[in-house]
Parts: sequence; C-alpha cells; structure tokens
Amino acid sequence: MTMQGDAFLKCIDPDCGLEYPITSTNVQCEKGHLLDVKYKNKPAEKLKDVFYQRRNPQGSIFNESGVWRFRELLNFCQIDTENLEECAQNLVSLDGAEGRLSKPYHMSKAAEFVGIKSDNFWLQPEGYNPSGSFKDNGMVTAVTHAKMVGAKKIVCASTGNTSASAGMFAANEGIDCDVYIPSGQIAPGKLSQAYQFGAQIVQVEGNFDDALKQSLDDAKKDGYTVNSVNPFRIEGQKTIPFRALEYLEWEVPDWIVYPGGALGNTSSCGKALMELYEWGWIKKIPRIAVINAEGARTLSDLYNGDFNGEELRWNKGKPNTDLINEYYDDHDIKGLLPKTKATAIQIGKPANILKGLRALEFTNGVVTTVTDSEMLDSMSVVGLNGFDCEMASGASVVGVKKLMEQEIIKKDDKVVGILTGRQKDAMLPVDYHHNAANRFAKPPKN
Ligand SMILES: *Cc1c(COP(=O)(O)O)cnc(C)c1O
Ligand SMILES: [Zn+2]
Repeated sequence: MTMQGDAFLKCIDPDCGLEYPITSTNVQCEKGHLLDVKYKNKPAEKLKDVFYQRRNPQGSIFNESGVWRFRELLNFCQIDTENLEECAQNLVSLDGAEGRLSKPYHMSKAAEFVGIKSDNFWLQPEGYNPSGSFKDNGMVTAVTHAKMVGAKKIVCASTGNTSASAGMFAANEGIDCDVYIPSGQIAPGKLSQAYQFGAQIVQVEGNFDDALKQSLDDAKKDGYTVNSVNPFRIEGQKTIPFRALEYLEWEVPDWIVYPGGALGNTSSCGKALMELYEWGWIKKIPRIAVINAEGARTLSDLYNGDFNGEELRWNKGKPNTDLINEYYDDHDIKGLLPKTKATAIQIGKPANILKGLRALEFTNGVVTTVTDSEMLDSMSVVGLNGFDCEMASGASVVGVKKLMEQEIIKKDDKVVGILTGRQKDAMLPVDYHHNAANRFAKPPKN
C-alpha cells in the first residue's frame, strides 16, 4: 500500500493547528508548540494478523524488527510497506534488532515485592534493545527521517541513553553525531558507548536542561535534532505499547506504567492509545501511570497541585502554561536543581510536558514519586528474576507498589510496567549489595 500524501506534521495546540509537510525538520510550530506526525488514512484492523505473521520474519529484517514490524502504523515515509526493497531504501534498522526482544514478561519476585498477583503483572525489558535502552525504538524512526531529509549530522542532548542510541545508529548509517552532555553527570557506561560509536561529545556546564537548550540552538545551524521533542522519535516509541498490547492479544491492561523523565515515552504511549482507540482497534483505554523520582518531580508537583495549589491539566488543549513557567522561574530563583541517582530521569524541565499532559488526560492517568532507595530495591528485585534493568527503570516497579498501597491501582488490576533500560552503572549494584541493610542485598563473603 503506497499512501502518497498521507503523512504530515501538525501542531498539537488545537487553537493553532499549523501544518507542515512531512519533510519539515521543525520540532515546533512557528509559535513554539510541539508537533505531531499525523496520518490521513485509517489502517485496517486486519493488520493485527499481518503483524503477528511477521513474528516469523521469513528472512526480512523489517519483519524481525520490533519497530518496523508495525510499519503501517508509522508509515511517515509513505512507502509501499510490503515492498522490501523500498523498506531497505528508506527505513533505518540495526539488522532488525531494535525492539526485537522486548515484550512483556511475568517476573514473580518483582510481583511479590509489589504485592500483586504475578498473573496480572508484566514487565517489559526495553533494555534488551541493541544499545541497551528503549531509546532505540524512537531513534530508528528519527534517524530514518533524518535520512529522508538528507541530514548529514544528528544532534542530541543526553542523560546517557539517548547518546548511546544516537551514536549507534549514526555510526551504522555513516553520518555524524554530536552529543551534548552535562559534564560529570552521565553514567560512564553510557558515555563510553557514545565514544565507542564515534560520536563527538560536547560537554556543557550545567544540567541536562542546559545541555538540551544548547544543543537545540546549535542544531539550528547544521544539525538534525534527535531528542524526544522530535516528533519522529515519538512515532517509533509507539511500538512499545504496540508490542505489549499485541502480546496481550490486544486485550488492554488496566495500567501501563513508565518512569517519567522528558516524558517522550508517556507522550508516545498516549499517542499510540489515542490512535488505536480512534481506529476502533481497542475498546478500552488503559490508564497511564508516570513515576517521577522524588528529586526530579516537576510533573508530579504540577499535576498533583503541589505547586501553588492548582492541578495542571491538558484541559482539552488549553493548559495553564503560565503555571509551568512560574514553576520553572521559582526553581531557577531558588537554585533548585533536579537531583537523583537515577540520572536517566534527572530532568527538571520535561520537554514533552504538554504532550505528556495530553496523554494523561486521554487515559485518566496518574503521577506519583518514588525515592532513590525504592528504585534501587526495585532494580535489585528485577535482577533476582534473571533480568537486569537500570535504576530509573526501577521506578516502574516500585511505582506500582506505591499506587497499590494507595489503592489507586486495585488488587485485581492488570498492569504492564516498562523497564526502560539495562544496567549501565556498574557500581550501583556493587554498592547496593555491599550494604547488608539493603532489602535485597547479598554481601560478599570472605
Ligand atoms: C530516557 C530514559 C528515561 C526517561 O524517558 P522519557 O521518555 O524521557 O520520560 C527513563 N529511563 C531510561 C532508562 C531512559 O533512558
Ligand atoms: Zn502551534
């Protein structure tokens, strides 16, 4: 099926609604609002069978790929999706490895820790992507778009995993990659990947939010931005819920749970669910739970009314953006910086906050916070099931525990938690297990 002229970009603000051609590299409309990739055609529900059949890849890396297996649902290249030669010319892929191994698993020890029946609880290890995090799902699509517009260099700011993913795909495609990092705040295991893949590291004095600002400015000159403000990142990350739902035979769970950083994942999940619901592929809408670190809790503070008393909402496209700016100004004046050992979610100004609010409104979502020590326990209990994940991913596990204790998640609810990345901070588990006071510690013997 070729769908010429099917895909375009559209501003998310319903009052603005500016549209751009699919080849535009803007990450915002000219009034500064975020953009969505939109499709005019409605995909046929019988594609569910096609996706299932592609799990026997029959020699095609685009069927093997956990992202491109769903290519009809993110066909912004507007190619004939059954023509494998056209796929090969247009779609970036690391030999089909992106998204291939990640699907929901039962993990009984994690379920026991959470206090939920194991049959009702799944964790989806996105760390089993080629660069070790969920970022690969969205990076293949962003780099596909970069290739479509002839970009020679991709640019990102990173708390670590974005740079590993961007560096990997850039190296594979033979294009340049500049990575802006807050100096001294990146887990060495992530930074070393970016070096290894030949990326140009640019050290920025300040935190992630400062690095993002500088990278966006510099990219205007000669780079293509691959942070999650890029709407094509969001398209690829829709396949995270697609894989979860497909595995559950499209019977939606009650909850999908994510750690919240820049809120790209939350936005993708919301967009995926909005589209599936609009097409009639799902009849029920799962609720999204976003878990912030206690030390990086912008969304939680604003959503739950912990700043100035107002509960910030998407409000059908009219969010109180002044409240967000007041929050940022207040934090700047007081010199309050995000602080958590879970560096992947150590973000004070989530770039996708408005799309995140939209996702929360559509899904009747909730937001809460967890402590560093709770994330470390969760990371550790996931390990006891034979899976590894990084500290930020632990938020998805202990977040469920917390929401169950508050009876927001009910005892018989079905829950899918996303484990966003693999362990790359080698000393965290070592330090954890050396301290016998930690809940799951197994200290070394002499
Ligand atoms: C990037 C990242 C996050 C944060 O995801 P957002 O989409 O920015 O909210 C969480 N965990 C890991 C491991 C990450 O790499
Ligand atoms: Zn706009």
